[in-house]
Amino acid sequence: MVRIDTVPLVLYAQVSTGASAPTKGTKCPGGQTVNNAACCAWFPVLEDILPNMFDNECGDDAHGALRLSFHDAISFSPSGGGGGADGSIITFNDTELIYAANDGLEDPVATEVPFIAAHNVTAGDFIQFAAAVSLSLCPGAPQVGFMMGRPPAKAPAPDGLVPEPFDSVTSILARMNDAGGFSPADVVALLASHSVAGADTVDPTIPGTPFDSTPSLFDTQIFIEVQLKGTLFPGVDPGQGEVKSAVEGTMRLQSDSLIARDNRTSCAWQALAGNLSGTQSAFKSAFERMAIIGHKAADLIDCSDVIPAPLILSPIDGPHLPAGQNQRDIEQACTAAPFPTFTAQPGPATSVAAM
Ligand code: CA
Ligand code: CA
Repeated sequence: MVRIDTVPLVLYAQVSTGASAPTKGTKCPGGQTVNNAACCAWFPVLEDILPNMFDNECGDDAHGALRLSFHDAISFSPSGGGGGADGSIITFNDTELIYAANDGLEDPVATEVPFIAAHNVTAGDFIQFAAAVSLSLCPGAPQVGFMMGRPPAKAPAPDGLVPEPFDSVTSILARMNDAGGFSPADVVALLASHSVAGADTVDPTIPGTPFDSTPSLFDTQIFIEVQLKGTLFPGVDPGQGEVKSAVEGTMRLQSDSLIARDNRTSCAWQALAGNLSGTQSAFKSAFERMAIIGHKAADLIDCSDVIPAPLILSPIDGPHLPAGQNQRDIEQACTAAPFPTFTAQPGPATSVAAM
C-alpha cells in the first residue's frame, strides 16, 4: 500500500523541476517550507544576519554587502582568469583588497568573516546570500533568487577585472560582457544598485556620500538624478572618477554620468527612470546571473525560497525631481523618446545627509 502511494510521488517530483511547477516541499526544523531540504541550513543564517549584521535596515552594512557581491562575482574572465562568485575576495582578501578597485571593501569583508565562520558555509555562497538578503531590507527592491553550492575559491582573482568609475563606457561594456555576457541594458539595470549605495573612498574626505537622494530606498531616483545637469561637488575637491552632481550631498560617478548619456545605453537608462517594476525585473535578472558567474546553475541548488520578500516602496516615495530642480535641468540623451516628466518636491533645494 505504501509503495503504491510512493511511486506517483516520485514521478511527480521528477517532472516538477520547472521553476513554476508546484512542488511537494520539505519542512525545515524551524517550520519553514522549502523545495530542497539543503536550503533549511540558510534559515539560521538569515535569522542571524538580519539583526546582527544588518541591524534590520537598508544602511551601510546592506550597501557594503551588495557591493561586495558584485566585486567578488565580476572578477571573472574566460580568457583572463578569476573564479567569479567564488568568495575569493574574502578567502584571498590579503591579495584582492590591495587592488585599487576594491578600496573600501575592508569593512564589509571584516563584517562578513565571523558570520561565515559561525555558520560553516562557503564564502562564495555567503557573499551572494548576504547580498540577496540585504536587498530584502531596502523598500522597492525585487525579491532576488539565491543559489547555494559554490565550492571554496581556489585562487585570488587577478587585478583589473572590476570596472572603475573613471573607465570609459566602451571599456565598462566590454568588461561586463566578457565577465558575464551582460548586454548594455543589463549594465544599466545593474546600476540600479547605485540607488542603495554611496562612496567612502572616491573622495575620502566625505565617506558615506550617497549616489542618490534616497540611499535607503531601492527606487529609480538614480536614473532621474544622474540625468540632471551637474552643478556641484559634494566635497571640496572631486575624487578620481567623480563628476558634478545635481543634488547637494550626493556624489555622481563619471561612469554613471557617461552611461546615462552614451548612445549605447542612454535609452535603456531613461526607460528605467520612474519605472520601478521595469527596474526590479531587469535588475533581478542581471543580479541572478551575476551571482553565479564562474559556476553552472545545474551544479547549484535553488534556495530562493529562503530570501524574504522585500519591503514595499511607499507611494509617497514615488519618482520625483529633487526640490529646487526643474524638468529643464534634465540633459536629454536618448534620441528615440523624451525623458519622462516628473514633478519636483516642494520647497527649496535641500542637502542629502551622509549615510
Ligand atoms: Ca571572486
Ligand atoms: Ca535610492
